[in-house]
Amino acid sequence: MRYELALRKLVEFVARRASALNQRYELRELVSPSITPLMDKAIDKIVLSIVRRDSGLWCNLCDKGPFTKRGFYLHLIRVHQRDIEFMVKEELNKLLEVVNKTSR
Ligand SMILES: [Zn+2]
Repeated sequence: MRYELALRKLVEFVARRASALNQRYELRELVSPSITPLMDKAIDKIVLSIVRRDSGLWCNLCDKGPFTKRGFYLHLIRVHQRDIEFMVKEELNKLLEVVNKTSR
């Protein structure tokens, strides 16, 4: 899968997990098998940093809320696509660095 496309799908994956919506893809379809378990944990970390659950879903990035699941998903995709993309890229790069080091 092309990197840009995978990245866009990963952003969607993060937004869906943060909103507790059903996923359209499995994580292992989006990243290489060698980093899937680590990326899964990294995404949990990202999700914890962007959502606050307090009678509804609140956005930690801009403090708006409360949202419904669907509303929060749309908010993340419309307003914070770039922010999430940045976080996902950062985690991916970290993991790929680790994987490359250990396979040398
Ligand atoms: Zn927000």
